[in-house]
Amino acid sequence: MVLSKKAEAISPSITLAITAKAKELKEQGVNIIGFGAGEPDFNTPQNIINAAVTAMNRGYTKYTPSSGIKELKEAIRSKFKRDNNLNYNISQIIVSTGAKQCLANVFAAILNPLDEVIIASPYWVTYPELVRLSDGVSVFIETKEENNFKFTIEDIKKAYTENTKAIIINSPNNPTGTVYTKEELTRIADFAKEKDLIIISDEIYEKLIYDGEKHVSIASLNEDAFKRTVVINGMSKSYAMTGWRVGYAASGNEKIIKLMSNIQSHTTSNVNSISQYASVEALNGSQDALKHMVDEFKKRREYMVNKIESIKGVHCGSNPKGAFYVMVNISELFGKKINNAVINSSFDFCSKLLEENNVAAIPGAGFGNDNYVRLSYATSMDNIVEGLDRIESFINKLK
Ligand code: PMP
Ligand code: GLU
Repeated sequence: MVLSKKAEAISPSITLAITAKAKELKEQGVNIIGFGAGEPDFNTPQNIINAAVTAMNRGYTKYTPSSGIKELKEAIRSKFKRDNNLNYNISQIIVSTGAKQCLANVFAAILNPLDEVIIASPYWVTYPELVRLSDGVSVFIETKEENNFKFTIEDIKKAYTENTKAIIINSPNNPTGTVYTKEELTRIADFAKEKDLIIISDEIYEKLIYDGEKHVSIASLNEDAFKRTVVINGMSKSYAMTGWRVGYAASGNEKIIKLMSNIQSHTTSNVNSISQYASVEALNGSQDALKHMVDEFKKRREYMVNKIESIKGVHCGSNPKGAFYVMVNISELFGKKINNAVINSSFDFCSKLLEENNVAAIPGAGFGNDNYVRLSYATSMDNIVEGLDRIESFINKLK
């Protein structure tokens, strides 16, 4: 039987697959250290949980408007104004089932067959698959660690063709931790204006930022950028709410949001009503828990970067300025052996590391660069210390 060729071409999310595998092994009693999960190890703050309980007790358990409840859109509107100096109307905002659904909606809303989307590589695994699902074509710009994994305006000009429809900006970046400056974003916005391109700005890690770096939303640069940008954000990372599945998108181009809402009204309808009420509290209530998380992530990142730099044969791709990932360059180890098996790729490295030393990491190949593995520091300091010791002992075993 012939099934959908498009669906057959989609790979499962490697980040979710490895995270699930590590959880399964742990449940079987294997002492696994997981560096896979891109999800905060903290519990959702209590005030948010309480708001969900209140919502249930009040009977807010029915369908809501498909694109989100008014209270949450108001809270998102205030958040954009407060944090990003962006002034959206309610009709320019949509609430979706995670930032992931916002992205799926946006590609479905803007792409026609063979439209091209420019993406910096390494990239978050999901972007190319979603572009493909909407019949678009991903055009990758290879970035380098010497340049902090940033694409430049010259790179973008080279990648541009008459089929280019959109550019994805993901700052702070998953998996590299790269944060773009206002000047760099301005050059990209100017080019987008010149060529009439849509900018998709995934800002889900905006709050997880270190070393005094400042997050700038490209949409806030000027009136034109405001109109041509779709900002994507969500509750998962900043509020430790990965399982609640709430993301949101906004654009000065109301038509795009309208199309996204129409699509969503036929696929999933509204985000879980209880999660929506909880998200109102997350955005409007105390932000203390977030501050605590960022302080913790900072300490972990520092330990991790220093320890990796001290291990012979590997180094950090760059000093990550945001998010909670470190890219570790393992390319010097290619050709080495463990128990007669040769390590020739990031997949080989990760599968042997899991087998030999019970550490889960994500192969860089999933993000478009085989020279790296991604380690997430969204896990406890104890796990980080033990996990990196295991990685060191694994590398020392390679001959
Ligand atoms: N964008 C990036 C860059 C991410 O790393 C993630 C992580 N899951 C998402 C979007 C989607 O997050 P969610 O669907 O949980 O809101
Ligand atoms: N974004 C996270 C990660 O990269 C969560 C997993 C996913 O949704 O891909 O690990």
